[in-house]
Amino acid sequence: MTQPPGIRTILAAKQGGRCCYCGDRLLSTTARWKKAIHPKAQTIEHLQRKADGGSGHPDNKALACHECNNGRGSIDWLTYKSIKMGELAA
Ligand SMILES: [Zn+2]
Repeated sequence: MTQPPGIRTILAAKQGGRCCYCGDRLLSTTARWKKAIHPKAQTIEHLQRKADGGSGHPDNKALACHECNNGRGSIDWLTYKSIKMGELAA
């Protein structure tokens, strides 16, 4: 269950450095904004939540901005993406 090295690099390349939900450009994890984590700082997101039985496999991971990761709650990731992309009313 060890995380392979470079997962962030792999995902960043796959996603073009953009959030998997809102499509905004992601900043590095260490970006700080007003002494807090920047809303667009990259985070590792589990597409299927671990609470729902999602695995730690790289296929279940994506990069999301801090803002989206925080705002998702228990919503299914595909539904959440549609909301963030403006295809569904929140
Ligand atoms: Zn986002």
